[in-house]
Amino acid sequence: MQTSDTLMPYEAIDAAALLNSLHAGVVVHGPGTEILYANPRALELLRLTADQASGRVAMDPEWRFLDEEKHLLPVEEYPVNRVLASGEAVTNQVVGIVDSRSEAITWVLVNAYPERDPDGQITKVVVTFIDITREKQDIPFEQIVAYASDPVVVTEANPVVGQGPRILYVNDAFTDLTGYTPEEVIGQSPRILQGPDTDPATRSRIRQALIDRVPIQEQILNYTKGGEKYWVELKIVPLRNTRGEVTHFAAIERDITSQKAKESSLRELAITDPLTNLLNRRGFSEQAQGRLASALRDGQGIALAMIDIDFFKRINDSYGHEVGDQALIHLASLLRSSFRESDVIGRLGGEEFAVLLAGATLDRAGALMDRLRTRLATTPFSLFDGRKLGFTVSIGVATLDPEKATLQALIKAADAALYTAKRGGRNRVAVTA
Ligand code: GH3
Ligand code: MG
Ligand code: MG
Repeated sequence: MQTSDTLMPYEAIDAAALLNSLHAGVVVHGPGTEILYANPRALELLRLTADQASGRVAMDPEWRFLDEEKHLLPVEEYPVNRVLASGEAVTNQVVGIVDSRSEAITWVLVNAYPERDPDGQITKVVVTFIDITREKQDIPFEQIVAYASDPVVVTEANPVVGQGPRILYVNDAFTDLTGYTPEEVIGQSPRILQGPDTDPATRSRIRQALIDRVPIQEQILNYTKGGEKYWVELKIVPLRNTRGEVTHFAAIERDITSQKAKESSLRELAITDPLTNLLNRRGFSEQAQGRLASALRDGQGIALAMIDIDFFKRINDSYGHEVGDQALIHLASLLRSSFRESDVIGRLGGEEFAVLLAGATLDRAGALMDRLRTRLATTPFSLFDGRKLGFTVSIGVATLDPEKATLQALIKAADAALYTAKRGGRNRVAVTA
């Protein structure tokens, strides 16, 4: 043992404490291979209690050791026996230890050397070994990732703010989905995949997870190299080295574009009236609710009109249900062409329609509705046989104080005005504050 002035003297090292806490296994054999000493790590790796270890000889048939090719290791190849037979040290012999219960293999890297008495006789063989199971694991994970059908992106761990971490690896599935080759994205930030319609809240949740070094799962809208939008379910996990430090992030993605499209077309169906293509009661209620909230926030006035066809039952009775349907479609297209994008138009049921006008006073709303009423009354629609059919509507318009203006209250007030218009003789507009 070499010492120098700067090192503490060898005798000052507590050898027992060292052996007890050493990460390597240490076994001391006697000249007959019997175990004289085994440190805790050795007992753990050999799956023995101290009692079992004491007096156990190295060639105990209960132990199954393997060579690197996983063949049973012949007894004479055991490191201790090699030292005893050759008198030489054994360096870096790879040995597999089989757990007799689970058949799991622990791979160890073994070193062994002889200790001799003054006459040169071997008195002990010291065997040390470290667990290399992880390093020995020969599953080709990289190939699995390369062949995976889900896109995988690996980035550096830093920087998570500013430009963001740089891409180090992408698999083929990534190229298939995005159109970017590895050469085009390696060294870039994954942000090149994002665009104007990528939700900023999702982006900041992801950035926070990167900063916190925690896994995150999100659905995010990305853009292909060609600028096409696609949706992915994104799972980002921090990857750690053996010291527990985060060295990389891996993003595993799943293309959910068609699922998203299906969801949105189902949603569309659920809120659309199939006859007129206007919003149905549910769609109107959802959108009007939102419009009402933003109008209140912006201090805008808001008015609601209820529109009901006059004597519609007569149209059905005289011309048939199909002509009645045509009348509904005719009114719907007139409504669509009469109001702005920001107004919400719906068919609440039967021959009853509603329009929510954002930013309109009661007077203005009343005037707009009267214009609609006149237009309809003077624009008959053509039947299949070329005949023209005109019909009229009655309209109730209402506004409410901002603090009282719930959608329900507005509808109720407009309904009351509509009733007034009907009672007043139909084909007219009634307003109420
Ligand atoms: P009023 O002037 O008082 O509003 O009389 P009206 O006949 O328009 O009102 P009423 O409520 O008595 O009749 C509404 C009719 O609308 C009854 C129903 O058969 C008809 N209807 C409801 N939905 C549809 C539809 O989708 N297509 C057709 N063609 N008719 C419908
Ligand atoms: Mg009616
Ligand atoms: Mg009605």
